[in-house]
Amino acid sequence: MQACNILVINCGSSSIKFALVNPTEPDFTLSGLAERLGSADAALHWQYRGSKDSKPIGNADHRQALAELLPLVERAAQGKLLGIGHRVVHGGEYFTTASWIDSKALQEIKSLEPLAPLHIPANVQGIEAATKLFPDLPQVAVFDTAFHQSLPEHAFRYALPEVLYRQHGVRRYGFHGTSHHYVSAQAASFSGLAYGDSSWLVAHLGNGCSTCAVVNGQSRDTSMGLTPLEGLVMGTRSGDVDPNLHGHLARTMGWSLDEINHTLNQDSGLLGLSGLSNDMRTLEQAREQGHVGATLAIEVFCYRLAKSIASMSCALLRLDGLVFTGGIGENSALIRNKTVQHLSLFNMQLDREANALCIRGVAGPIHTPGHTRVLVIPTNEERQIALDTLALLKQHTA
Ligand code: ADP
Repeated sequence: MQACNILVINCGSSSIKFALVNPTEPDFTLSGLAERLGSADAALHWQYRGSKDSKPIGNADHRQALAELLPLVERAAQGKLLGIGHRVVHGGEYFTTASWIDSKALQEIKSLEPLAPLHIPANVQGIEAATKLFPDLPQVAVFDTAFHQSLPEHAFRYALPEVLYRQHGVRRYGFHGTSHHYVSAQAASFSGLAYGDSSWLVAHLGNGCSTCAVVNGQSRDTSMGLTPLEGLVMGTRSGDVDPNLHGHLARTMGWSLDEINHTLNQDSGLLGLSGLSNDMRTLEQAREQGHVGATLAIEVFCYRLAKSIASMSCALLRLDGLVFTGGIGENSALIRNKTVQHLSLFNMQLDREANALCIRGVAGPIHTPGHTRVLVIPTNEERQIALDTLALLKQHTA
């Protein structure tokens, strides 16, 4: 089969994650991370055909890190690189699908900075560096929000004055779209159902967590909103709180907006509740040893998750199954079991053995026969970005 390598790039403010993806092969030929960019201990770590390597790239910025990467990519792709797929965190209402990056698209992406002030500048840096280094290759942007642009208005509008939506873009956008898309499509194929005629509830549980209702291959509702803070309890993010909390903390504690935002985004969630860690593995071990905070954090996490899954069901006419994914969803039998225990009204019940077996990349059904289908499906955002990039390249060359 013809090689069709896509370089997938995910730029953060001081890091670049990358993978060379050939969708006809199960594993990535090359993948890795450039980290601590802009500092003296910047480093490039990569894995090529299973073997790991690293090199210091002191003080490298995004462009220099990509230049260091170039020979590795060329060797791994053997001259057969078709294009670059960039993960972009926010596409606003303008980008409803993956998009070819030309100067107009780049301007549009830059104009979205107020919606994602920490991430968009880093994404733009990556795009500009890659365009300079690979001027002859097509560059495609794949947006975390685009999959959710199919939400009906009653699901994406907040009950706020209309001017805030029309003039300032205040609405629910949702995130993790690439993951929700990938695992719901996999769930359909796994179950022998046509993706275009299937209905799923998806729980993506990583450091960030969100739920999604996917009907006939389209997102119809999701738990994250204007920003990735809304919805579920996450590693360090609070998820939903009373919208008056900002005012309350400002009045009673004298906290500034920055302090309140920091608390809700970095000190809350599993970390805040447990007083111990944002990492679910650590919390599970501490719970085993009777740690009160860890036990409470896990109980709140699972109850809030179940509540969100139940509320997402309003977007469905039928339910073909619930899908767990992300580091927690793919590995924690405890969290899956506790969550599903709150969902017995949906005829959900797990098979203890099957649930215990689905860890470390093993996909499968974990429900008991006669009950609603529950699946564990490992996510693969890089593969979905490569698939979206390839689909767009094919359209352009058709
Ligand atoms: P990110 O959102 O950064 O991509 P991941 O999807 O890797 O994060 O998920 C990270 C979370 O998955 C952490 O809370 C981690 O503790 C949890 N996790 C990973 N492996 C396990 C495990 N075996 N049991 C429980 N939780 C796990």
